[in-house]
Amino acid sequence: MPIAMKNTKLISINGKIYSPQEAKISVFDRGFLYGDAVYEVARSYGRVFFELEKHIQRLFKSAESIGMDLQKTPEDYIQEIYQVYSLVPDENMYMRIQITRGEGDIGLSTKLSTKPNVIIYIRHLEFPASDFYSKGQKVVTTDRLRNSKRALDPNIKSGNYLNNVLAYRKATDEGAFEAVMINTKGEITEGTTSNIFRVQGGVVYSPPDDADILRGITRGIVKSLCSELGISYKEEAFSGAELEKSEEVFLTSSTKEVVPVRQVNASSIKAPGEITQRLAMAYKEYVKKYCEERKHLGVVRV
Ligand code: PMP
Repeated sequence: MPIAMKNTKLISINGKIYSPQEAKISVFDRGFLYGDAVYEVARSYGRVFFELEKHIQRLFKSAESIGMDLQKTPEDYIQEIYQVYSLVPDENMYMRIQITRGEGDIGLSTKLSTKPNVIIYIRHLEFPASDFYSKGQKVVTTDRLRNSKRALDPNIKSGNYLNNVLAYRKATDEGAFEAVMINTKGEITEGTTSNIFRVQGGVVYSPPDDADILRGITRGIVKSLCSELGISYKEEAFSGAELEKSEEVFLTSSTKEVVPVRQVNASSIKAPGEITQRLAMAYKEYVKKYCEERKHLGVVRV
């Protein structure tokens, strides 16, 4: 039975439920001390978490890459997320699962902690204003480097987001929705919490998998939708100047879906462009089908 009113926020720490005011974590937690943590963000539609299996799979890959033992199975974590979800009545929720390496005395050795802290945060997902998608959003490019794979692979979704936080300051300062970072070659990588695409000559371009980007789950779906819709898709590096001159630009993320871009720095971009719109609609259809199938199969665990 749901225990919470609509629009509530709940936090589970190692299986115990707290309000945001009550939820506390130790100052010796390694996520707090060193960013020694992994996380995922997913959203639900009509009480089904979209692509939750893929998110949890990525969480396990992130953990494995930093030698963190999650001590349970992916299915255990999926069950735990749905258990927290069963306490709220809302249909559309934002969910963040963050697992830190746990607590221990100060020191870099990962052996100082043996038990991870598991935090699941669930809150109502606000819909953006009605013209958010129809008008399109502004993006700024920055000279901030996205983590190089050799420093910290962006495919490890870890608690280290400081360079993204710093890049995002430019977006805040310039009234933009998102800031885009570059790699050591000066090529465009991705937004601070989204992947970026440009359309030129009817072709959808995304920075290559190895361009220091997170291979986003939404990006993967857009890639397969391009193939289904007969839209040419290429993974090819591009510069900020090329991005500014694009026919269309869009961003993708699990929480925001496909976001048309109307401006890159001072350059106007047609938004929403025709190809962006086709992909955004196809994405919504894909989500609908995914959620209906899960309901039909009784996968919804509430
Ligand atoms: N890049 C970064 C840096 C992100 O934080 C996110 C959000 N998880 C994305 C891309 C988009 O990934 P996804 O489509 O899996 O949400």
